[in-house]
Amino acid sequence: MALLQYDFKNQEIADIVNAIIVYAASNKASDIHFDPCSTGLKVRFRIDGLLQDHTIVPALYQRNLTTRIKLISGMNITETRLPQDGAIKGTINGLSLDMRVSCLVTNMGEKIVIRILDYSKSSDGLDSLGFSKRNLPKIKRMTEVPNGIILVTGATGSGKSTTTYTMLKALNNEETNIITVEDPVEMNIEGINQVQVNAEIGLTFAQVLRSILRQDPNVILIGEIRDSETAQIAVRASITGHLVFSTIHTNNSLSTIERLLDMDIERYLLSSALTGIVSQKLARKICPHCRYQRETTTYEKEIFRRTLGKDVNVIWDAAKGGCQYCRNGYSGRIAIQEVLLINDEIRDAINKNMQKEELKRVVYTKDVATMLQDGMEKVLEGITSFEEIYKIVEINDELDNICYNEEQQFEQTHAQEPVPETPTDPTTPPSPETTQPVSDETEMLTFW
Ligand SMILES: [Zn+2]
Repeated sequence: MALLQYDFKNQEIADIVNAIIVYAASNKASDIHFDPCSTGLKVRFRIDGLLQDHTIVPALYQRNLTTRIKLISGMNITETRLPQDGAIKGTINGLSLDMRVSCLVTNMGEKIVIRILDYSKSSDGLDSLGFSKRNLPKIKRMTEVPNGIILVTGATGSGKSTTTYTMLKALNNEETNIITVEDPVEMNIEGINQVQVNAEIGLTFAQVLRSILRQDPNVILIGEIRDSETAQIAVRASITGHLVFSTIHTNNSLSTIERLLDMDIERYLLSSALTGIVSQKLARKICPHCRYQRETTTYEKEIFRRTLGKDVNVIWDAAKGGCQYCRNGYSGRIAIQEVLLINDEIRDAINKNMQKEELKRVVYTKDVATMLQDGMEKVLEGITSFEEIYKIVEINDELDNICYNEEQQFEQTHAQEPVPETPTDPTTPPSPETTQPVSDETEMLTFW
């Protein structure tokens, strides 16, 4: 993106701030960074997970611009040494926006980051989140159970809040009392009671949770399980007839179970409480307008064979440089997911404090596609690229998890249909001449 020039001499600083915010929001940026540098303030947008330069605010106007943002986000404008948090909520140029603002003083001056909260992602329902045909029914089944714990896991920025909120919204109706305890409340949802944690006055997750249980809830969302105390209350709430949602910072189902086991929770309670685990990461989607097909490398062939058991010779890839509809061949993001429904065997394993290797065997059965498998399926469908999956998934760790899976699938395949000696390749993506650039299905799996 070429750097944009604003007319600082003739335009009001308030208008320029608005223009930057509107530009960022309409380009689907998740964050706006105002970085102090030697020439002034460098403005950058994070789009599809990557930062890109937008403009430079000359040093002469830096102070004014910083003050303006602090003012509209409700910060103390005379405080220039301590970090501050603020928020901007309102309509700018017809766009309804909700933003969180953070100000941190660096050695170069005040650095501001505006996070733009986008509600539209979770308003399109579960079907729009990119769950595979195998995973979507599992998600629906999880939310139909009236009690238990559903955990959504992933790193910061993996889209786990969107997934959690979407699941919650699917349950939001007049007969259901939904209460959340969050830090911070990321999105206001009509019809749901949301409580903000406030550590400064001693209002912790654990304390709010105790009160929530006296509020006759059906469904409880705990923003994040950070400690054993919260985990214990979550477990107790779920076994006393509540459906509990929460998030946790782990990579996949296996590490989530291990993390929970490390917390001080009674195993028999945890084993009966846990309903399901959804782990996810976000991958950039390749642009359907300029994507192209190429032959797979030896390494890619091997990964396809080990993850999906298929010989894949041709895949879609992102075009370097991209086109008018994208940035460097990519546009938007899709979730790469692993969905685990807890079954009796896993409950038994948790109860018996099984060691990691054994636990792995009961978790990764043929019913569970690991994130790597889900990702490779999405590469095969031409939605994302191998490079993206390589970047976001720990391929070696995940391959290790698939081993058990592969053996079982292998046996099953043999039992049903012997593999021909010279297999034809049914998995090659259709040629560009015979397909529309955007299939309905690809279009549906968007919104990140
Ligand atoms: Zn393109």
